Amino acid sequence: MADERQQRMTIQRKLILEVLQSTTSHPTADWIYEEVRKKLPRVSLGTVYRNLNVLKENGEVLELNYGSGQSRYDGNPKNHYHFTCQICGAVYDVPFDVQNELNERAKEASGFVIYKHRLEFYGMCNECQNSH
Ligand code: ZN
Ligand code: MN
Repeated sequence: MADERQQRMTIQRKLILEVLQSTTSHPTADWIYEEVRKKLPRVSLGTVYRNLNVLKENGEVLELNYGSGQSRYDGNPKNHYHFTCQICGAVYDVPFDVQNELNERAKEASGFVIYKHRLEFYGMCNECQNSH
């Protein structure tokens, strides 16, 4: 019985990861839940949240939390920068490498030991620029 449960969890987790890796939209758990439900109609939102947490702890996905509103999830776990459109709310990857020298500069300026940094860009996305 334990095996069966384990197997079900593995299938659910694999599907959640596939759904996340198939989109560049940085979706919310609600969106992921709707997608997963198309293939596993009996899955619950709680199960989706639980699996997202496990995937996050395993370093397989990123949780993007901007302090307000729902977290978004990213199937690319490598550190990278994001842009949030303040008009439509879309979140995009910013296609340049993480500037690791910023850690050095922050250390020099403060004396702190720096492990990592986060940098978020805000503005108007290309689609919104074209429709304004
Ligand atoms: Zn926009
Ligand atoms: Mn991303």
